[in-house]
Amino acid sequence: MREELDGLFKSNGAFPDIEMPSGFEKKRPRGDQDGIKRNLTAIVPHSYGEHGGCDQKWCRAGDANYRHSSLPCGKNLTDQAVREDIEKVIDPYTSAKMTEKLATLSTTNPNENINMMISRKAPKGSHYTESESFDIRVSAAVAQENEGHAYILKVNDAHSLSPGHITTKRCHELDKKRQFNATQHSTVKQKRRRIELKSRAQPAVFEAQHLPSI
Ligand SMILES: [Zn+2]
Repeated sequence: MREELDGLFKSNGAFPDIEMPSGFEKKRPRGDQDGIKRNLTAIVPHSYGEHGGCDQKWCRAGDANYRHSSLPCGKNLTDQAVREDIEKVIDPYTSAKMTEKLATLSTTNPNENINMMISRKAPKGSHYTESESFDIRVSAAVAQENEGHAYILKVNDAHSLSPGHITTKRCHELDKKRQFNATQHSTVKQKRRRIELKSRAQPAVFEAQHLPSI
């Protein structure tokens, strides 16, 4: 059901772009609240083979060979008790308050990026949380996210240490590489390449997510 959810949020423009408004003004709803509510309400019937309320942008039930990609054996659900339970889970998300929140959702990539940085500096396989080591490691990850790798040079300066030539050179090289990667990854060519690679790895999921538009 996850891919259906992803598909319907995209089809309603909940994740339309990565451009954020300047400043810190209140987020404006960017998606279609009514569409989100309509499609959320259609998810459970969709899983039970009732496609009257489905949006053609994400529901492929009209295809002769359609099978659910994430339900057992690709078949419709049938148990009515399970249906009631699922509806209880979905219902709270269809309120006006929740659909407004869902309509303002944006990409979580920046969060994933900082999570990855923290996990590199404080791997969960090592026990750091009982000492200040953990705080320092998390702070280092935040500094790296905000300042780039050159944060190490600033830390050295703040403690009256002289960063060595090799350290300085390495920091600038890493920042240059980071900038290059950020620019490259945001190009249309790279985005198309990522979608292509994803489609090869997970053909069924890819179809559910990307058939509306690329
Ligand atoms: Zn459907």
